[in-house]
Amino acid sequence: MTIAENLEIIRGRIAAAAEKAGRKPEEVRLVAVSKFFPPEAIIEAFNAGQTVFGENYIQELQAKKALVPPEVNFHFIGHLQGNKAKIAAASCSMIETVDSFKIAKALDKHLESLQREIDVLVQVNIGDDDAKSGIREDEVEDLLVRLRDLSRIRVRGLMTMPPYEADPELSRPYFRNLRRLAEKLSHRGMFADLTPLELSMGMSSDFHIAIEEGATIVRVGTAIFGERAAANK
Ligand SMILES: *Cc1c(COP(=O)(O)O)cnc(C)c1O
Repeated sequence: MTIAENLEIIRGRIAAAAEKAGRKPEEVRLVAVSKFFPPEAIIEAFNAGQTVFGENYIQELQAKKALVPPEVNFHFIGHLQGNKAKIAAASCSMIETVDSFKIAKALDKHLESLQREIDVLVQVNIGDDDAKSGIREDEVEDLLVRLRDLSRIRVRGLMTMPPYEADPELSRPYFRNLRRLAEKLSHRGMFADLTPLELSMGMSSDFHIAIEEGATIVRVGTAIFGERAAANK
């Protein structure tokens, strides 16, 4: 299967899951997770109509960005470190993994000097899984309140990566909990205006379930680009 064929299949499955849930397929954005794949793979997907890509490592993102068309947008989906905030601020269209005030403040400072604004999501460790990053559910509101003081970042919603489940159906409660949390906080005015509230949840194995539960962004790698080398998961 080529990347273009895989994309075609994923788009069909996104549309089917949206329709099953009474939603419009356009409400769901596909982020093609290109980590560990070369820039040629991004270009192949771009030529098949894919414009948004997800990367986990800032230096890898920066290196690839220099080698792909300028219309390619990157979402950062990895753990962001303070010393990489400057590059992240300059090179991403969205940072999905804000998990502390400190990192947000560093981003805001660099965005200020670049005269840029960007959209961000707060990463929530919805399953309270020690192996996953993100903040606990009960810490989200406090962080959102503090983020209001930062003028260069627009908080659009929440992102999560639930504990791995072999049966995707078992991820459903986590997705549902993230949506409920986001809706509650949205009613309290915690997110930037002009939203559709964004919910980034669902990967290759479970994006269809996430869409049924309200995902507006799905992050799909393996099902588009193939298996990553074992050492590089
Ligand atoms: C790698 C990764 C993905 C993509 O996972 P696949 O199972 O390959 O679709 C999605 N989200 C995050 C945060 C990732 O690190």
